[in-house]
Amino acid sequence: MLIVQKFGGTSVANRERIFAVARLIAQAAKMGAQVVAVVSAQGDMTDELIERAIAINPRASAREMDAYLATGEQMSVGLLAMALEKLGYSAVTLTGWQAGLETDSVYGNARILRLGSDRIVRELEGGKIVLVTGFQGWNEAGDITTLGRGGSDTTAVALAAFLHADLCKIYTDVDGVYDCDPRNNPNAMKFDWLSYEKMRRLIAGGAQVLHDRSVEMAQQHGIAIEVLSSFTGNPGTIVCSETRRGD
Ligand code: ADP
Ligand code: ASP
Ligand code: MG
Repeated sequence: MLIVQKFGGTSVANRERIFAVARLIAQAAKMGAQVVAVVSAQGDMTDELIERAIAINPRASAREMDAYLATGEQMSVGLLAMALEKLGYSAVTLTGWQAGLETDSVYGNARILRLGSDRIVRELEGGKIVLVTGFQGWNEAGDITTLGRGGSDTTAVALAAFLHADLCKIYTDVDGVYDCDPRNNPNAMKFDWLSYEKMRRLIAGGAQVLHDRSVEMAQQHGIAIEVLSSFTGNPGTIVCSETRRGD
């Protein structure tokens, strides 16, 4: 059993949250699964990095911005690996380029093209929990690229597709997908499941709970995504095709 888990910024925002996420990962590993966890930058780190860059040069080149912004995710996987080590688990961190995530050269909004390395598989076979930085890859020039805001979801789905994962769980700070943003609408209704098409319509209408390209990629490869909370044990929302739902 191979599981891809993804943890967003709020889920790893501080020390306590890092350990909570480490325990979720450890739980899956303890049950015998091979685990690949994709991690976002902590809390509002990416926004803060952008602010700091703008204060230096509001017209910084896209290439430099990408190399710089990719560091947020490098910090969070590092801390998570240290937490797992502390809990007695053996984890290895891989950046987008170490993991072999090849993208096109549209800096700031790059598209994942392929997984050009077997490094993740080798690490899993060596018994490691693999922690991959979300939101980034590398292009044919050998440069770091980023996938656009919210792009860690797409990293997770791409890895689930390339690795033929059995499960792709997107952990976030709400316990699933609702018909409108549950933070602003106390009467929002949660979906147990919804189709790729419906999810894409929600995103087009402004629901930024998933990166649009992650759903596009999931649909293309027939990957069922579960969106769930890293804060509660509640079951989440499954995003899949009509036919898969009947399985
Ligand atoms: P993460 O950092 O985990 O990637 P995001 O902030 O990208 O999390 O996405 C989760 C947020 O999406 C929630 O906190 C919620 O406010 C917002 N959201 C907007 N629309 C919806 C919706 N229809 N269903 C669920 N969450 C939604
Ligand atoms: N850290 C990036 C962002 O804030 C990517 C992500 O969180 O998915 O957009
Ligand atoms: Mg997100």
